Amino acid sequence: MAILYSSTRGGEKNVTASEAILKGLACDGGLFVPDHIPVIEGNLQDWKEYSYQQVAYEIMKLYLTDFTKEELMNCIEKAYDEKFDTEEIAPMAEADGVYYLELFHGATIAFKDMALSILPHLMTTSAKKNNITNEIVILTATSGDTGKAALAGFAKVEGTKIIVFYPKNGVSPIQEKQMITQEGDNTYVVGIHGNFDDAQTGVKNIFNDKELGEYLASKGYQFSSANSINIGRLVPQIVYYVYAYLNLLKEERITQGQKINVVVPTGNFGNILAAYYAKNMGVPIDRLICASNDNKVLYDFFETGCYDKNREFILTSSPSMDILISSNLERLIYRICGDDAAKNKEFMESLKETGVYSITEEMKHQLEGYSGGFASEEETSAKIKELYEKTGYVIDTHTAVAAVVYDKYVAMTKDNTPTVIASTASPFKFGRSVLNAIDSTYDSLEDMEQIEVLSKVANVAVPKAIEEIKNAPVRHDHVCEKDQMVEEVKKFLQI
Ligand SMILES: *Cc1c(COP(=O)(O)O)cnc(C)c1O
Repeated sequence: MAILYSSTRGGEKNVTASEAILKGLACDGGLFVPDHIPVIEGNLQDWKEYSYQQVAYEIMKLYLTDFTKEELMNCIEKAYDEKFDTEEIAPMAEADGVYYLELFHGATIAFKDMALSILPHLMTTSAKKNNITNEIVILTATSGDTGKAALAGFAKVEGTKIIVFYPKNGVSPIQEKQMITQEGDNTYVVGIHGNFDDAQTGVKNIFNDKELGEYLASKGYQFSSANSINIGRLVPQIVYYVYAYLNLLKEERITQGQKINVVVPTGNFGNILAAYYAKNMGVPIDRLICASNDNKVLYDFFETGCYDKNREFILTSSPSMDILISSNLERLIYRICGDDAAKNKEFMESLKETGVYSITEEMKHQLEGYSGGFASEEETSAKIKELYEKTGYVIDTHTAVAAVVYDKYVAMTKDNTPTVIASTASPFKFGRSVLNAIDSTYDSLEDMEQIEVLSKVANVAVPKAIEEIKNAPVRHDHVCEKDQMVEEVKKFLQI
């Protein structure tokens, strides 16, 4: 059955998947959501021998119903290839009785690669399908990982340009180096004096600027988004939760139909929302455990039903989760208010105007499948050390936030359901924090020296993504104020 997409704020209705992918954000500032969540037909057991690519096809075809089989297969084959350093694409590791779903084996060693390696292909296919002749300009705000993954995905892709804004002092040294060394004439990277929320708000404002959009069109350009507000990011992320379940079945860790819990280190709520969609599609997932760092706006929301972004923005060792305006939560709010766009719009307007909204009791009931938790900096680093000393397995800071939250959840509930933790980044991406957690005697070493030490400690080879940036020249040194983002866009496009 065909699926059409509508804005969570009611201003745009019934567009095709390819149109929604091209637009990124709906014209009323809302996010595109499918008119229903499709259910997986038949028996998951029958898919257990499927490759990642096969599972990707089976899941994505249910959402991207205006893509032909050939188009979709073509996108999948181009995305999930040797760019990943493991044939399984998303392998699972067991440590201390928990399953770590490793989502960091792609080109930029963070989970963003899972979706951003396919988005450029979905986007160019969508452009072709819709007879778009404008060049597509991808605008991206990043808390560190999306930027590089999007740059790597779109670099040198014909018919596209990509501009990335990142918080100048809010990303890890490796993350920054990865971005500012990006090759490709169609790429542009700008550090802003502000935090991630400033970058994201700036990008959303540019999208909503109709006059600018028209001016751009007159010059042969149109904007789109590579942020997780794009439905073309969300759909590919559902795949690995299905794949993880199949993996556990295949390895006989669970039996058909047995429920699992999923813990997700969360920032913009894209990754955990994909798990929620997987659950609604029929994957036997019991609890969705949302893990936050010290920026625990989501934890507070799940506890109280009140979303309140009016608080201090804290820079942590898990920078990709340093977020106070969690964009994708809007898709959940829309759903739990009964797909009522007008009601959702009220909440979002309240958020914009006052920084706060409170959901109704009725809506709160629909969040019963969720648990929230948070981890302090000390707990996070202690967990990295503890797990390493116990098992030899090294996890990154974001994954460690999830592991702490999981420990707290088990201590509180005694729930022993088999559990998958989404492992969202390679420890090498946050090498300094990870190594410091394990053994602080190396603190004075240079970043790259620390990587070498970490490789020995973890007994894992240095990933190619790190080797590549070691001696790479800086190609982008642009910095701007947060209210100058439009000028930067115009400068790059020479318009
Ligand atoms: C982006 C990111 C997250 C947060 O994911 P969301 O989908 O924004 O919730 C967590 N960990 C890492 C390493 C990331 O790059």
